[in-house]
Amino acid sequence: MTKGRIFSGMQPSGRFHLGNYLGALENWVKLQNEYECFFSIVDLHALTSAFENTSKIPENIHNMALDWLSAGLDPEKNVIFVQSKVKEHAELHLLLSMMTPLSWLERVPTYKDKLQQLGEQGKDINTYGFLGYPELMTADIILYKAEYVPVGEDQIPHLELSREIVRRFNNLYQPVFPEPQAQLSKSSLLPGIDGRKMSKSYGNEIPFAASPEELRERVRLIVTDPNRIKKTDVGNPDVCVAYKFHKIFNKENVNEICKCCKQAEIGCVECKKRLAEKMVDVMTDMHTRRAEYEANPARVKEILAYGAERARKVAAKTMEEVREAMHL
Ligand code: SF4
Repeated sequence: MTKGRIFSGMQPSGRFHLGNYLGALENWVKLQNEYECFFSIVDLHALTSAFENTSKIPENIHNMALDWLSAGLDPEKNVIFVQSKVKEHAELHLLLSMMTPLSWLERVPTYKDKLQQLGEQGKDINTYGFLGYPELMTADIILYKAEYVPVGEDQIPHLELSREIVRRFNNLYQPVFPEPQAQLSKSSLLPGIDGRKMSKSYGNEIPFAASPEELRERVRLIVTDPNRIKKTDVGNPDVCVAYKFHKIFNKENVNEICKCCKQAEIGCVECKKRLAEKMVDVMTDMHTRRAEYEANPARVKEILAYGAERARKVAAKTMEEVREAMHL
């Protein structure tokens, strides 16, 4: 017996990094055992920024599916699919857009921030799709009558808007949709190897798809206590980026590392080697699954097609209710 239904999605906008994994995917893998989950690669959302060049989208979708499956999402337990393969997303988005006041969309904080950013960059790309992003997100969630949406703090205003749209629909027509609830995910915040936020634009990321060798190489480059020059200098783990990684990936040995660092009983090279081996160990199953799926791209396609078929059944049923409620 599951606790309820969840919907969540991610934009296929390039390779995943370890920070992305810890920020959301790790949580999804846990949720799949307790909830009925619909996980969608939301390629229509990716068009808000990639509409000028869409040629990379299929490759990005495949890579994202690989990341999800490697992380341990089970295609039988979850409905894993590509958003654009279920046309009802676009239909419900259109219908919702007819009844949502423009001011509701304009007040969403991420819209205002993005507008400001674009202005600073001298760009005036301000399309309807960009403004209507939360509307499409609402359609994604309620098409499956999802009761919960795993979100970070920054997405709460979006979900509040979804709940308002649902209330408006249910009041105007018939109570077709449940109001989706936010399920705040507590994720570990992993910095980049230079200590700033992990981001591909800073070049400080560790790719989620990194092989054990690449992983070791990236860990070797992690910034440590800048005041520790020689192995005999005592270190300060609180200012060391590698130590932050130990706290996440090497919890059982973190106290020992802290003590050895403060007493200069371990050098940074050795300390990072231990970290790298621990990370390789933690990710062994993921590396194995990735290798299997990489060797069999047809299987990945099959999984996405199977997911889309299951999603379409639920979506079609919801749209029947929506059309009836709206006399269409
Ligand atoms: Fe960081 Fe480890 Fe070096 Fe201490 S010994 S500064 S924790 S890498």
